[in-house]
Amino acid sequence: MNQTIFNFSAGPAVLPHVVLEQVQAELLDWHGSGMSVMEMSHRGPEFMKIAAEAEQDIRDLLDIPANYKILFLQGGATLQFAMVPLNLLRGHGKASYVQTGIWSKKAIAEARRFTAVEIAASNEDRHASYVPMQADWQVSPDTAYVHITGNETIGGVEFDFIPDLGDIPLVSDASSHILSKPMDVSRFGLIYAGAQKNIGPAGLTLVIVRDDLIGHAPANTATMLDYAVYAKEESMHNTPPTFAIYVAGLVFKWLKQLGGLEKMAEINARKARLLYDAIDESRGFYANPVETRNRSRMNVPFTLADAAMDEAFLKGARSHGMIQLKGHRSVGGMRASIYNAMPEIGVQILADYLRDFARQHG
Ligand code: PMP
Repeated sequence: MNQTIFNFSAGPAVLPHVVLEQVQAELLDWHGSGMSVMEMSHRGPEFMKIAAEAEQDIRDLLDIPANYKILFLQGGATLQFAMVPLNLLRGHGKASYVQTGIWSKKAIAEARRFTAVEIAASNEDRHASYVPMQADWQVSPDTAYVHITGNETIGGVEFDFIPDLGDIPLVSDASSHILSKPMDVSRFGLIYAGAQKNIGPAGLTLVIVRDDLIGHAPANTATMLDYAVYAKEESMHNTPPTFAIYVAGLVFKWLKQLGGLEKMAEINARKARLLYDAIDESRGFYANPVETRNRSRMNVPFTLADAAMDEAFLKGARSHGMIQLKGHRSVGGMRASIYNAMPEIGVQILADYLRDFARQHG
């Protein structure tokens, strides 16, 4: 990130400046190896060490129990929309999905290619603005798993609880909030995340999966779509996205050095509060429709009461060094993504700008 620019993109997104500096310093010659990480064999000792450290560091950060495998894949979170049903149906005739916004709808549409989908709960009755309480879910006891989208990146709706489903595995798309706070991995059967928000560069997908859920893909499943292959061959059945794994590993070390996920959670809560306070204090000049308990700490969507001012708002933001604030093309308005690597000062500058712009145009 250029230090004078604050990039609020939803992903690919801002990376920690110190990590980019380290990548730059090591780019031509990694630790005296005479090679760039990009040039290394994925089976050579140097890269094997990089990958093993990355895996251990994320295991430490999330306190991942020993009976969970950490897999490094490609294909984005979108491929997981297919790999989850392929691998986790285990002969069941249906899977359950909680519908909370655009990303869960995409996961549902893909799952329907493989199985019957039961919508356990939906928030469409109130414009996708909240997470239905578990007491209101309907889950058949013979369902294969229950899938949630832990944080809806477009709607800015985040779970404020971990559902308890007894023996039914819980699956979460954690693409846009993984590593933003501690997470009790033992409560999930499987967690997946595209890397390009809170982990590192695009091209890497992280899957954390409980041992007993591996090895159930039908016999005719493509090799590269079977979790068992990744688990058995330590994510190296073929060439993994080596450079992305390396940068992700540096991000993990940065998080550890900063004090881990407890510390990150504190910082993220402060950052989110700055923006939601500015929105709420604007007396309707700005609005965020999400129920308070489910307001995302990572993606803050908001609208201006007068959409005719959107362009002026964005232009002014750009002139103050703030970019990528335009909302997702499907919903319009604005969205500020404030992942781990967005410094507090960037969020403070945006909150100040929100107040100034409202004062001038309100
Ligand atoms: N799920 C969520 C919650 C997302 O935010 C995104 C990407 N914005 C995706 C899935 C799709 O990720 P990918 O582009 O890595 O396939």
